[in-house]
Amino acid sequence: MADARRTQPSSSRNFEKKFAGTVSPTLLNRGGTHGTSDTSKKPPGCGSAQRIAGMRGAVEQNTEGLMGLMYAAIDKLARSMKPPKGPHTPHFVETMRPADITPEVHALAWRAAEKQYAHRGSTTVYLDELELDTARFIITAMVRRYFEDKNPPGVTHGPGGLSWPALLELQNNEVLHIRSRPYMLDSHLRIYGFLRKALTSTVLQPYVETSETVRAILARDQGNVFGLWDMATTGDSEMLGWSMYLSGSYFNHDCSPNVRKERVKQALCFRTTRDVEAGEELCINYIDVTDPVATRRKELSRNWYFECACKRCHEELGIEPVVDTPPPNGHLAGEAEVLS
Ligand SMILES: [Zn+2]
Repeated sequence: MADARRTQPSSSRNFEKKFAGTVSPTLLNRGGTHGTSDTSKKPPGCGSAQRIAGMRGAVEQNTEGLMGLMYAAIDKLARSMKPPKGPHTPHFVETMRPADITPEVHALAWRAAEKQYAHRGSTTVYLDELELDTARFIITAMVRRYFEDKNPPGVTHGPGGLSWPALLELQNNEVLHIRSRPYMLDSHLRIYGFLRKALTSTVLQPYVETSETVRAILARDQGNVFGLWDMATTGDSEMLGWSMYLSGSYFNHDCSPNVRKERVKQALCFRTTRDVEAGEELCINYIDVTDPVATRRKELSRNWYFECACKRCHEELGIEPVVDTPPPNGHLAGEAEVLS
């Protein structure tokens, strides 16, 4: 496939079963304390507000510390949430035909949400557990962006060297996703409303004053995250959560992949499965490639929004394959790259 930014993804029939059309990628700590250090606890023997402010300032100076503070802000607000009374009122987009959900209509909905949640005293938005996980995922990306914005260019930011520009380079599936699942827009808008309130008066407040950052992250969530499964060797494997590995997200799909991915603790390892010609594209599989061609194409179209143009699909459909211009370097079987 020519578009190197086409996507990335978890295998996921079970994904659909378990999470019914939601798209929240989470980190490995889903369902647990969600944090790193519990910075919400006051230090023992600390009676001075000034000293607390000083310690808080120090905690904000590193990624782990700031994430802990921000997760605590989410947890604090979540405790004040009250479940909505009565049935869900459909957002106007949910009542539209998919073809009528254009980028303009979508942008209009977000602008309305920005106005709605601009008031400091607005009621706390209710989020379910999966939406709270999505909020935490967004916070993780925001914190990394915050340190990138703060530090001079060229600084490496933790494992994988995540960079905000690299995230923006991933395929934007925003409108395609909402067109296929209109009910998700309401969820996304509420997550924004929740974050806007939770991050008031924090160093991340500038990132929620408009919806731009939240939208940018959500737009790359669907189709660009990897499912994280338990390490069971027999029986059904359970999905533990999702995570985004930026470099790994650049692998395209092929129904006859030459690379397989393996999880090694919290890292993903990509290993070639056969000798690869210099210039041949390295591809993984997003779906179960033992499925028949029609099933594979339907699933790719539904969850990754593209028509597979791989050689195997073309052969099985009796269509002449399209030859892509190859990239410059080859890899030998067994060569691996580890992302963490
Ligand atoms: Zn294919």
